[in-house]
Amino acid sequence: MPSVYIKTYGCQMNERDSEAVAAQLVTKGYTLAASEHVADVVLLNTCSVRDNAEQKAINKMENIAGDIRKHRPNVVLGFLGCMAQSRGQELIDRLPDVDLVLGTQKFHRTADYLDELLAGKRNKVVDTAEEPGSEGTIREHLLHGNARNKSVTAFVSIMQGCNQYCTFCIVPYTRGEERSRPPEDIVAECRQLVAHGVKEITLLGQIVTSYGRRKTPHPASLPSPHPMGRGQGEGKTPFVQLLEVVHEIEGLERIRFTSPHPKGYGDDLVEAYAQLPKLVESAHLPVQSGSDRVLKLMHRGYTRARYLEIIRKLRAARPRIGITTDIIVGFPSETEADFTETLSLCREVEFDNAFLFKYSRRKDTPAAALPRQLPEPLIEERHARLLALINEIGGRKYSEFVGRQMQILVEGPSRKNSARFSGRTRCNKIVVFDGSERHRGELMDVKITRAGLFTLYGDPAILNL
Ligand code: SAM
Repeated sequence: MPSVYIKTYGCQMNERDSEAVAAQLVTKGYTLAASEHVADVVLLNTCSVRDNAEQKAINKMENIAGDIRKHRPNVVLGFLGCMAQSRGQELIDRLPDVDLVLGTQKFHRTADYLDELLAGKRNKVVDTAEEPGSEGTIREHLLHGNARNKSVTAFVSIMQGCNQYCTFCIVPYTRGEERSRPPEDIVAECRQLVAHGVKEITLLGQIVTSYGRRKTPHPASLPSPHPMGRGQGEGKTPFVQLLEVVHEIEGLERIRFTSPHPKGYGDDLVEAYAQLPKLVESAHLPVQSGSDRVLKLMHRGYTRARYLEIIRKLRAARPRIGITTDIIVGFPSETEADFTETLSLCREVEFDNAFLFKYSRRKDTPAAALPRQLPEPLIEERHARLLALINEIGGRKYSEFVGRQMQILVEGPSRKNSARFSGRTRCNKIVVFDGSERHRGELMDVKITRAGLFTLYGDPAILNL
């Protein structure tokens, strides 16, 4: 059977989509290749959030077309995901070696289209149409049966699309309208994962706090979207109700989710942190800017004061909660005073870490038409200043863990040094330690001995107990 190599750009949602495509192909008999150089099919799952993510994927495909295709003319090349959705046929016009362009509602059709292309039944395929019910198709996982590769953590997609229309963001145009999966489907998928040894599940969506708010028409074959049953969760948002039913799954040890939106962060969600012990003390809460003027221009729907109030409530519910965020630097018309507000917000919150994005002008988004687009060197300079601050705060916060005993879930060999093992604390810190395969999937206590930049180093404390 043919082998396939999938390279993923962008966010965790894209990682999850790629995994579902890979699992679908494996079920159909395809094998997974270790690199593009030995694969019969090379797929790039793309990101459109910033221009450089698009350029990276286009350059990669140009190289593959120029190099691999020259020696192996029958290799099938494809673009999947967000850039495929937004550019469609244009990608084949620009790169005629590309055979397949599949949009964000078509991942589940990958195997059928590849079969047809490989069998020579079709020459090129471009499919970026909307497909009702496609939110329910990201459900297959690559679950390895043997202990060596066993996954102990998994991502579960609970919804697709976004209706927030932040003025900088291309996602509503590439991922379409918000569509939520029925809770029964999500719970069934989580149960199956736990039965295969998964201990930690991350619920995924562009804006998970909007889960189930919009009644989308569901195909007759699927149960109606959100009957949570037995009068449970009254007065709570569908997302919090979903957290409660997932929390009931026996054998599941930890629940995470990403990303929430501050606008949807009600008291019920804060309370969930206090009530649900499996919901770990970690929150990724994108703020984007510390300036009310910029937040308004971004169409974020909250103020700096409201954001700080949520942080205060979260810390009251879980004092040791780890808090991370996303920030955009250099939004059109951002002044030095606006930027100073962002710096001061970071000092006030003391984020454990932050993902910093240089503003990237995205075609057809409202922000692209705003006056006073900032020059590149100014964005670079502000980015460097903010990064230095985030590193300084992170360094201080991470060093506070030294000497403490913490519970980690062991995920496998460390990415940077495969001779060592790594696990994750409940507050989402990576801990590297001397471990072995037998530790994989274990919840164990370690004593933190040293802190690096956004990494902790530990010793199994179990011996001292
Ligand atoms: N849905 C989440 C939210 O907005 O709350 C985040 C999803 S988005 C794919 C991830 C991050 O990319 C955003 O939080 C934002 O910081 C960044 N981003 C989105 N559009 C961008 C743009 N045009 N330029 C720079 N960064 C951008």
